Amino acid sequence: MPFSTADTIVAIATPAGQGGVGIVRLSGPEAWSIAQQIFRRRSKTPIRPQHAYYGAIVDGAGIALDDGLLLCMRGPRSYTGEDVAEINAHGSPVILQRIVGMALRLGARAAEPGEMTLRAFLHGRIDLAQAEAVADMIAANSEAAARQAMRQLAGDLSAQVQAARGAILAALAPIEATIDFPEDEVPIPERNDLLARIAEAETIVAALLAGAGRGRIVRDGARCVIIGRPNVGKSSLLNRLLRADRAIVTPVAGTTRDTIEESAQIGGVAMHLVDTAGLAATDDPIERAGMQRSRAALAEADLALFVLDRSEPFTAHDRQIARELADHGFGRPARPIIVVRNKADLPDALAPRSYRALLAALAPPENVPATIAECTVSLTQDFGVDALEAEMARMILGGPAQESAALVARARHQEALRIARDLLATSAATLRDGFPIELAASDLHEALRALGLITGETITEDLLGSIFSTFCIGK
Ligand code: GDP
Repeated sequence: MPFSTADTIVAIATPAGQGGVGIVRLSGPEAWSIAQQIFRRRSKTPIRPQHAYYGAIVDGAGIALDDGLLLCMRGPRSYTGEDVAEINAHGSPVILQRIVGMALRLGARAAEPGEMTLRAFLHGRIDLAQAEAVADMIAANSEAAARQAMRQLAGDLSAQVQAARGAILAALAPIEATIDFPEDEVPIPERNDLLARIAEAETIVAALLAGAGRGRIVRDGARCVIIGRPNVGKSSLLNRLLRADRAIVTPVAGTTRDTIEESAQIGGVAMHLVDTAGLAATDDPIERAGMQRSRAALAEADLALFVLDRSEPFTAHDRQIARELADHGFGRPARPIIVVRNKADLPDALAPRSYRALLAALAPPENVPATIAECTVSLTQDFGVDALEAEMARMILGGPAQESAALVARARHQEALRIARDLLATSAATLRDGFPIELAASDLHEALRALGLITGETITEDLLGSIFSTFCIGK
């Protein structure tokens, strides 16, 4: 990954394949002059920044290949912070490749993946967390994931990280002054003041970490397991949930287990749905293997849909599944569960008392309704499924306030926050335990450095390279 911004780079900015419009983007000192050798306007007046011009795309001999628009942005008021020219042509891969080829002959270099956004970062247009939000926005597979990326792009995460860094600096600066100028009349900082600053940073970091689990689920999709004894309607439910969004259903890559697993956007959240075999005790080796896979699916799931057949009394198998769910931590925070009472078109045969006992076994009363919900549906009559879908999204996102507090979506950010949290705790302990205050300085420095990995102040070129190499070309 090149970190020089001295040359001019070019890339097709629109997706591969044919489209109504295709865009070639140039960024760097020669962007405007190269674009003007490829794009012929009728007017001979000088190009004005932030304006669009209609004209023809011409080859080296001056022969028109296509007509389109030229947009010129003058740095720093551009996406990359440099001079940018965008040529909008018809979305033919042949034409777009010709434009890139001409730009290369005129002295541009083919952009690496993510290099446009890398330049925006290097020029200080955006910080690293915002640059990563661009990639997350492009890769967003649900409305909630796009909303989350937008918050990060707008700088919500960066602002919190900077606030924590500011509090750490406010503790570090007076400590360092006593180290750097020991013979001068530097006032010795009050331990309690320093501890208050550290506590301020700890509060911010803790809040970011608290939302991180939800943030990652929203970005990557929630794993939702459908469980219940045979014949209660699990396959019918899976099919119904998938039908809601057939167009964007994609099989999850790399799954080799033969539990059925598919993805759909449900209530604006990406969900990976896993239909499991039951969990009945059995001697049959094949069924036992199925049970193993069901347990593995339970262990990974963020949400369980426990399907009951409302037209039949409970069985030992229903109770066993309830116990398994509780054993796997469902019904407690972070592992919500929805009891789906299916076959509402048939008479209700669930005994109310045993049903209440079943619910109580699943979740302690203080967790209701945050971690357990009930829905009554009929899958053959298509009744109640919309409400179930809304409930699934609510369980994953929490309320709107909880959703917007989930700012951390990347494992990289979560890891940096954990490191900062531990270092802040150690530095606070050093101060509280009466050690010389200078001893807290190195932990505070390291905490600053850890947080700077998120926004990019303290990042190495290697790490930057690996982050941006996952971007798509032209972004
Ligand atoms: P699974 O074994 O849990 O996957 O259950 P299936 O989805 O295969 O359904 C078992 C049987 O119940 C099938 O014959 C379905 O048609 C039937 N079934 C599913 N949902 C309903 C429902 O809401 N009402 C009625 N009456 N039958 C249903």
